[in-house]
Formats: sequence, C-alpha cells, structure tokens
Amino acid sequence: MSSIDIEISEVGPRDGLQSITPIMATADKKAWISGLAAAGIPEIEVGSFVPAKVLPQLADTAELVRHAKSIPGLVVAVLVPNLRGAQNALAAGADKMTIPLSVSETHSLKNLKRTHEQVLQEVRGIRSAIDALPAAARPKLEGSLSTAFGCTLEGAVPESKVLEMAEKLMAAGCDEVGLSDTTGFANPVQVRDYTRHIRELVGADKLTGIHLHNTRGQGLANVMAALEVGLTTIDASMGGIGGCPFAPGASGNIVTEDLVFLLESQGLRTGVNFAALWEARAVLARALPDVELYGFTPEAGLPKGFTAATTQ
Ligand code: ZN
Repeated sequence: MSSIDIEISEVGPRDGLQSITPIMATADKKAWISGLAAAGIPEIEVGSFVPAKVLPQLADTAELVRHAKSIPGLVVAVLVPNLRGAQNALAAGADKMTIPLSVSETHSLKNLKRTHEQVLQEVRGIRSAIDALPAAARPKLEGSLSTAFGCTLEGAVPESKVLEMAEKLMAAGCDEVGLSDTTGFANPVQVRDYTRHIRELVGADKLTGIHLHNTRGQGLANVMAALEVGLTTIDASMGGIGGCPFAPGASGNIVTEDLVFLLESQGLRTGVNFAALWEARAVLARALPDVELYGFTPEAGLPKGFTAATTQ
C-alpha cells in the first residue's frame, strides 16, 4: 500500500494469545481480527501452526487464516515451527509464514527441541514445499532471528552468531530474515548496529522488519532506532498482551496503540484510524475481561488538537 510509510504487523492474536491463560473464543478472535483490519492494520499474524496440545489457545489457526483471507487487502501471516506446520499454513492459504530460529542454541534445544541445523533443515523443506506451488500462490517465508539480542538462558548472544544465522537462513531458502528481541534485552545501539550489519551481509531488502518487546521499557526507543536505519515493518500487540505474568505492569510485546501514536505523531503514515483502533481494543477488552490491557495512549487519549499523518 503506497499510502503507508511504516507497516504495523499486529501479532496479538498469535504472540499475545499464546502467552495468556484464558482461551479466546474463535468468534471473538474473528471479530477482533476484523476490527484490527477495519482500523487499517495492514498485516496480522493470526496464529501459529503448532499442535493443539502444545498451545490449545491457538488450535483454531486454520479457521482464522480462512476468515482473515476473506478481508480484502489484508496480509495474513502465521508462525510455523516446522515443515508440518508450514504444510498446514499452505493448505489454509496464508500469505506469509515466519519460522523462528533461536540464535541461542541452548534456547533452541530447550524450547524447540532442535539444533540450528535441524531448524535449517525444516527451512529447506518448507522452501521446497513453497516452490512446488505456482508462483502466484507462494507465500513469503521469513526466518525470524529470535533471542538475537540476548537469551534468558545463555545471557549475551554474540553478534557474530546472529550474522551467521541470518546468512544460513537465507541460504536455506528464506525470502527474508527478521530481527526479534524475544527477551526484551535490546538497546537502540544494538538495533542500529545489528540491522546495518545484517543488511551488509544479506542485502538491505532482505531485512525489513523487527519484533520488539518492552520488558525493560526500551520498546519505543528501539523502534526509533529501527526507523533511523530504515526498517519499515514493526511488530506490535494490541494492549501489549502477552506480557510476563510474573512482572505486573511490564508488558511483553510493544503496544500497538502507542506505536501508532509514536509514528503518526511524527508524520509517518500507518494507514491506521484511531477511532477504529479504539473499537478493536474494546472488542478485545470485552472478549478477555480478566486480562489486563496496557498502553499509555488509550488511557491518556490523543492530545488536544492532534492531527494524524494518516488521513481518511
Ligand atoms: Zn513477542
């Protein structure tokens, strides 16, 4: 969409809902996804193709992909942990698939039960499955460099390892890579440096997006760093849902509503309409009455006389 400067990729239906205990009803998820799209969010990660026994919260992902695909113009993204998940995503008709590779191999072994080489093998398999489709039907495949800025198990993750994995994901068949601060360790200098260095290695057009967490309050500062070096897609979660349950008030994913305000207030068009965004937040709040929704902008309201960059 040419009228958009920065694309917000809403990950709440996946990243948010997988981290909370209540299971949102499928009908509510559909209404929420429709509300987000109606607000102008251009891309939504609607779920993850993992076994229902692992994440019962996301068991309805295929149905949600089909629902989201009925919304004109919306890019329908999903997370896939492996080839089997990717096959389900292809069958459902997702536009974009993200496979996470944890740069910390300790984290990869513990959480995904896979070595780096095993994840890369899955990527090669997914590439073949995509290439077997007619060109027009091929979804985009992104390799997400998770724990890129540090790991709760290993601690610091060397940048050299991040670069090595970016190169290997591209060689295995990803269309692009994404940076992911899974643990909320990142600082703005790191975001700038890693982005520049990965782009030097794999090409500027092969790294366009970043996934940031606000665990230590650095989320929007890191967004500013990402904008400075030219990243154009920012992940965020409505109400910041998916926050750490052991640290009340410390949200996980950066809050979509505050991100939209940050961008629009400095003249960057997101395509998002605030009034419709508040309606989508109300849908979420009604569906999950026991889950705390974060966000400063929804609480404070827009400043008096505020004019958004997006006009509609
Ligand atoms: Zn996240």
